[in-house]
Amino acid sequence: MVDFNLTKKERNELYELVINRLENYYDKTRDYAVAPSLDVTEIRELIANYGFKKDTSPSHTLHYVIDALEKYMIHTSHPRYLGLFNPRVNFAGILADLITAVFNPQLASWSQAPFPVEVESYLVQEFGKKFGFDPECIDGVFATGGAEANLTAVLCALNNKYPNFAKEGIFSINKRPIIYCSDEVHHSIAKAVKIAGLGYQVINHIPVDDKQSMRTVELENQIQKDIALGHQPLMIVATAGTTGTGAIDDLVTISKIAKKYQLWFHTDGAYGGAAILNNNLKATLDGIESSDSIIIDAHKWLALPMGISLFLTSHKDILNKTFRVTADYMPREANELEVTNLFSHSIQWSRRFIGLKLYLSLLFFGWEGYDQVIEHQRQLGVFLKAQLIASNWQLKNNTPFPIACFTDDTISSNKEFTTFVCDEVIKSGESWMSQYPINGLHTLRLSITNYASTKEDVEALVEQVNQARKKYLTLA
Ligand SMILES: *Cc1c(COP(=O)(O)O)cnc(C)c1O
Repeated sequence: MVDFNLTKKERNELYELVINRLENYYDKTRDYAVAPSLDVTEIRELIANYGFKKDTSPSHTLHYVIDALEKYMIHTSHPRYLGLFNPRVNFAGILADLITAVFNPQLASWSQAPFPVEVESYLVQEFGKKFGFDPECIDGVFATGGAEANLTAVLCALNNKYPNFAKEGIFSINKRPIIYCSDEVHHSIAKAVKIAGLGYQVINHIPVDDKQSMRTVELENQIQKDIALGHQPLMIVATAGTTGTGAIDDLVTISKIAKKYQLWFHTDGAYGGAAILNNNLKATLDGIESSDSIIIDAHKWLALPMGISLFLTSHKDILNKTFRVTADYMPREANELEVTNLFSHSIQWSRRFIGLKLYLSLLFFGWEGYDQVIEHQRQLGVFLKAQLIASNWQLKNNTPFPIACFTDDTISSNKEFTTFVCDEVIKSGESWMSQYPINGLHTLRLSITNYASTKEDVEALVEQVNQARKKYLTLA
């Protein structure tokens, strides 16, 4: 029989090999082409040819896998990846995922993993307090990502409004429930309502203003219209830091509207929730403390490996109401204690120690560490926007976060132009950026979520987009 353990000698050799290769990548990420050419045929052939050969040694296989990762992926850890919300991960997060894999604690029930469950519960409390929730009312749970956390919010809103929802599901609903969010909301909300069995037509998209924030007057008008039509307004999803432009909805006004009409007020802070940890940005989230639920993705601005999101709620009993089940075969030793069994408290059953990477990260670097790192990126964002304006680009978004969506008004900002510039930058292998449409206008988008990006990186990127514009004009 094979030995799944391998021998101690083999393990030590393989650890060393992996650590050397990983350290090389982590230390020299800058030396890699941010976006290597990605040829699907070549990649499929590579995988098929390697197959499951029995006679390849583990060390050979490890080199193969690491080589392929180096060659065939976008290096989102690169300081000139100013693309989507994929951060370079901090070192505590890497160690935490390794430790978790070795111990593999089962967090489904408290008695199987008391330390991990209590660590996560502590983090839930601390983050709930950071967001301004009443400490007596805080509850929450870790999720694999914002999509799962947003789904949790939709399910909680339903169970809060309809006492029989857990038992009778959609059959307990007599009026059409309506969910409000802005036109710029993340598509995971649409997926969540599809999964919840409501269908995406229950979403009422509210137009945005010139800051890409939800128009709150229209929100209230729409709620009144829906009530007049005999519908049941259920929930408002505000976004604190939209995925495209970093827009923050007016949380104070939205919370008042939610209260007035008794709607569940959910804040999607998957990206921007991190602002609560920065002294210069936290005021931009004023009103978030009135949320019934909040999500924050720690695998975005908190620089941790995927997948870690945190769902928080100010309703102590709602997760139990929504997810409670009884299973005779689950360990019950802890039944007499006041503890949380996460299998009965969340979407997942078997459950990884997701929270360790956030815990270790806070133990290594502290809240101050996060404050400093986010402040560095905030300042880089200010610098980036100033550099773009100095180079005669016009900003089309309006956010305190380090995201710039821009065009050159003297060139009709059509898709051909933005695609040309974006492709030039990506083809260079030196940097990575994206595009985002705002009101039908095609804009170029640069966003900083990498703590290791520097002023020089920003200058280099601005120079690259300037050069690409010049090239477009000479070709045009
Ligand atoms: C990224 C994002 C999500 C989805 O989160 P995942 O972690 O990718 O599942 C939801 N909402 C917003 C605003 C996001 O930026």
